[in-house]
Amino acid sequence: MKIAAITVWSVDLPLKRPYSLSGGRLHFERLDSTIVRVDTDEGITGWGEGCPWGSTYLPAYARGIRSGIEELAPAVIGLDPRRTEVVYRAMDVALPGHPYLKSPIDMACWDISAKAAGLPLCDLLGGRTEGRVRLHSSIPSGTPAELMAEIDLAREEGYRFHSAKVGADVEADIERMRFLDSQMEPGEEVTFDVNRAWLPAEAIAALNATRDLHRVIEQPCETIEQHLQVRRHVGQPLAVDESLQSLGDMLRLVETGACEVIGLKVGRVGGLTVARKIRDVALQAGIRVNVEDTGGTALQASAVVHLAQATPEPFRRATWLCFDHLTENPIDGGVTNDNGWATAPTEPGIGAEPDEAALGTPVARYQ
Ligand code: MG
Repeated sequence: MKIAAITVWSVDLPLKRPYSLSGGRLHFERLDSTIVRVDTDEGITGWGEGCPWGSTYLPAYARGIRSGIEELAPAVIGLDPRRTEVVYRAMDVALPGHPYLKSPIDMACWDISAKAAGLPLCDLLGGRTEGRVRLHSSIPSGTPAELMAEIDLAREEGYRFHSAKVGADVEADIERMRFLDSQMEPGEEVTFDVNRAWLPAEAIAALNATRDLHRVIEQPCETIEQHLQVRRHVGQPLAVDESLQSLGDMLRLVETGACEVIGLKVGRVGGLTVARKIRDVALQAGIRVNVEDTGGTALQASAVVHLAQATPEPFRRATWLCFDHLTENPIDGGVTNDNGWATAPTEPGIGAEPDEAALGTPVARYQ
């Protein structure tokens, strides 16, 4: 089997409500997603997607993905898409670095591999585990009352696990964290996600003032070095998200005892081929994993839920469905929010396919 053609669409995805994070310094109203279809000479077609959360959240931007695919396409056309490591190596040789823009092609190759095997994708990523995948909400920055209003909306959709975005001034954040902690109901959980807004001194002050809350604090500072400085002075369980960009980063996090939880965003680390290796290292190290992505439709979310579904408890922590935040979702099938839980589709492949009519005219085709 050989890759015969790659077709690329740009999809505008407005958010239902404006979204702020990192204490309000980053603001978002719509996402720009790139969807790819990889055709093979044997008639099996695979789908992939890459959708950064805007251009300010990470060193990644939507037009970069489409430019990157222009560089990568000649290197992968003619290769067997089921040989995912061979395809990945060809992409790394054609364009070193830039992991996020390799994820859509990599995802489509996994979709093809699973379809060719007649298996749901999770069965190629370690195998379907028992039980459903817990979902977490994503609560944008705001005043304590605004945060609670968003948590109440999430509760109405079944969410019992919340990722609340904090990260403004330290005194106000201490107040936010204490207030939200006091509002959690039995069985409900909240993580405080700082999205790298604090300096180490601020993080140390805020965390030592809320040490009694026993909540996970996510990505308090910008870099791994700053994170490790905080680690030496606080007792809370910590999560690393934005700073985990490669398998090498993961090995360093383990070696330094940096965290108890990782946010494993599949697109950011370069796709499923890399993400499953990071997942495996986390399992060995006893680190819990939020398997998720940076944005996108139910196509991207479904691919991610397959990796989560193949990650056993108690290492699997929670997953996020970006498309719950969108006004549009041009995808047939795939995962749904079942009262705060999701299950990986059972049909061969990812089990989610775009409605091509809804995608509009492709922006590029390589063959
Ligand atoms: Mg996060």
